[in-house]
Parts: sequence; C-alpha cells; structure tokens
Amino acid sequence: MEKDEVKKIKDWMNTEEYKEKNFNRKAIVINPERACQPLGAVLCAAGFEDTMPFVHGSHGCVAYYRNNLSRHFREPFAAVCTSLTEDGAVFGGQANGFEGFKNAAALYKPKMFAISTTCMSEIIGDDLGSIIGNAREKGHLSEDILAPYANTPSFVGSHLEGYDSMLNAIIETLGKKLPAGKDAGKTDIINIIPGFDTTVGNINEVKRILKIFGINYLILADYSNTLDSPLNGEYKLYPDGATKLEDVKNCVNNKATIALQKYSTKKTAATLSEKFGQDVRVIKSPIGMSYTDEFLMTLSEISGKEIPKELEDERGRAIDSMTDAQQYIHGKKFAIFGDPDMLTGLTSYLLEMGGIPKYVLCSNGTEEFKKEILDLFAAYSESEGEVYIDKDLWHLRSLVMTGPVDMLLGPSHGKFVAREAKVPHIRIGYPIFDRVNIHRYPLYGYSGIINLTTWIVNKFIDIIDDASDDAHFELMR
Ligand code: SF4
Repeated sequence: MEKDEVKKIKDWMNTEEYKEKNFNRKAIVINPERACQPLGAVLCAAGFEDTMPFVHGSHGCVAYYRNNLSRHFREPFAAVCTSLTEDGAVFGGQANGFEGFKNAAALYKPKMFAISTTCMSEIIGDDLGSIIGNAREKGHLSEDILAPYANTPSFVGSHLEGYDSMLNAIIETLGKKLPAGKDAGKTDIINIIPGFDTTVGNINEVKRILKIFGINYLILADYSNTLDSPLNGEYKLYPDGATKLEDVKNCVNNKATIALQKYSTKKTAATLSEKFGQDVRVIKSPIGMSYTDEFLMTLSEISGKEIPKELEDERGRAIDSMTDAQQYIHGKKFAIFGDPDMLTGLTSYLLEMGGIPKYVLCSNGTEEFKKEILDLFAAYSESEGEVYIDKDLWHLRSLVMTGPVDMLLGPSHGKFVAREAKVPHIRIGYPIFDRVNIHRYPLYGYSGIINLTTWIVNKFIDIIDDASDDAHFELMR
C-alpha cells in the first residue's frame, strides 16, 4: 500500500466516524482487559497451604496461566493439568484425570488439589464430580488429598468468577460448621477475603492495619507470601505463609467475614452468609479516603475496638499528602481501565482529588458496576465522566483519540493506547508486565492514597520538566 494511503487510513482511525464504527463492532473483541475463569481459579489456589492448582483441560491453557501469573509476580508459578488432547475430546477426559492425579500426587505431594476446568473440558461435558469420585474409588486419588473442584468455563464470566468459584468450592468442601447452640470453637477472628487482587502490597497493608487494630484475622486466600517469597537460595514448591487448611475448616465459625471486592466474591459471600449463617460484609475496595474510612469503620464495628490513634494519624498524613498534591490533579482528565472493584475505588479517589475520570472502561463490568460509577459521578456532580462496560482497549483507543485525556491508569495492556495518544500511563492492576515492583506497593489504605498520589503527580511534574525550555525549567514545581 502507498505510504500516503497508510497515513490516510491511520488518520481516519482517529476520527469520530471510525469511533462510531468501532463501537458498532459486534463480531470480534480486540485486546479485552480481562482473563479467563481458570486463571482466577489457579491464582486463588496459590493462596492455600501445600495446594497444587490442578486444571482439567488442555496444556496450552495452563501454560498461559502460569506464564501470565509468573510474568506479573516475577515468581515461579506452579500449576498442573490433565493435558487433554483430541482423544480426550472424543472419549472424555477421565483417563487423563486418573493419570494426572497419580502423577501429580507422586511428584508434588500436595495436601490439596484445587481443581478447575477449561473451555475444552466444559464443552465436551466432562463431569468433574464423577471423575474425582471414580478416581477415589479406583485408587487413583488418595483420600488423604483434599480435592475441592469448581467448574470454570471460560466462555462465560472472567477471572473474577473463576476466583470466586474456586474459593467457594474450597470453603464449601473444607468448612465444618459447629453444631448450633455450641459456642465451642467460636472465635473472635475476622475472615478477610481480598478477592482477585494481584497487588500483594494490598494484602500486606490490610494485615498491617489489622495488626495495629489488634484484630485476629484469617486471610482467605493468602498468596501475599507464596507469590512474593524471599529469595534466600532455597526453592520451595509450596512457600510458607499461605492460608492453613486447618484454619479454612474453622473459617465458617469465625466471627465475621469482610470481602474487599464485590465482583470476585459473590458466590463465596452468599455461601458464607446463607449456608453457614456468618455475618458477611462486602465493602468497597479501600482505595481513596472515603472507602478506606469505610473499611476501618467496619473493622471497628465488628471488632468493637476503637480506631487506633496510629491509624488516625496516618489518615491525617494522607489528607496532608492529598492537599499538597491536589493542584496537580484538579481538572485533569483520566482514562481508567481494569477490574471493576479497582475502578470503583480509583474513580472515588480521583473525584476526591478533583480529577475527572473521563473514561471508566471495564471489559468485565456489569450493569450493577455501571450504576455504581454513575452514582459516584452524581455524588460529586461530575458531568464529564463516561463509563463503558463490555468494551475493550480498542474501544478505549477510539475514545482517547477523539476526546483526549491527560493520563491513563490501568494494567500494562493499555501501553499501546498511551503510546498512540502520547499520554502518560501509570501501571495499576492486573497484569503488569513492563514495570517492576508495582504490585508490592499498596493501593489500599492511607498508604495507598500516598502511593497513588505520588505516582500520578510526579509523572505530571516530570512531563512539565521534560517539556520546559531553559527559561522555564524551574526548581519549584
Ligand atoms: S479462554 Fe478457554 S481456551 Fe482460552 S486459555 Fe482460557 S480456558 Fe483455555
């Protein structure tokens, strides 16, 4: 094609006319900001003691989860699969399941297989319950190995539903409710469910807050150490620090559960509340001031403890940091994308700072999520904000090329849009493949406010410095 013609088409792709066609696109999805169900299931499994994520499906799928999660955490990520191929598709995958259980048990000696499925095993209609039952009966799967399982078909939902289904299966399988009326075993422990959260700094921050409060807690599922284990020359297939299986058994008797995400915990929250009669609070992810306050007040209410002075002081410092930085964010337009709970928190934070969440795009968002964002816009009288669900990053490209923003906030996949639009891109969420250590810094809590503000504002100041000529290259900004 002639150079001129290429340029003409490229320019046309940045027009309103192209945007309209792009938004009418039905047949394909381009660069969606979402992963498939089993990826969420295997991440959840990594948070439990001596547990091997076991996927009934094809090899390529599991290579993708391992590869994706390893790249994000920059840690080895173990998961096994039944390697279904064409004959499995024709005759069913039971034989592969039997062999998989035997091999993986002999090689990796887990206490638990957390079993999920892929598109292929779902499409051929394999019955996981029967396969596991038959494997036990025929001696291919020892009774000593726990085997909770979840159906995680990837043609519906996303990694969020996969995480939820796996956690739900583990709690339903292991949880042992004490007989009614018996207080023995009732604890003062509060269960915390982080949800599909790949920012290990968030989990660590939540633990730090709970320690300052003096609250006994149980994280379900805790991969903050298994996927961020110390480099000390010793490789452990199952690193220390994951949620103990013994604790999971009693988690249904604990005082209450707080879920820090709504959209990746729906099934689990319903099970804990309806089946096990637990006090379950599903709160907004504690990003920004008002949602962090809500988290602390929920902890205080459930535990009956006052909010400690140390945390009140942290709050004051976070407000100070916001005040110092507000002038740099006020009136700036942002395009944000990623998972729904994170986006609700980021939207709230940006509105608190006087920023404009011009585009909030969630590939795996629902109408419920959309309403949540619109309600936030209304609460802050934000008239320029727009929210898009079930749209991908090619849609986002059209949005920012026709209605510019000052910054993108979201996972690494957005870097191509940022490059074309020539705007900065702060990496937040999942996955982050092209920056180091970001997942170790919390977005949650008052510390998270300071981190977010630091990243965003310093980036804007860097840009001002880089663009300044000698006469305008100031010491003070
Ligand atoms: S979408 Fe289906 S085929 Fe693709 S990786 Fe996920 S489970 Fe495998």
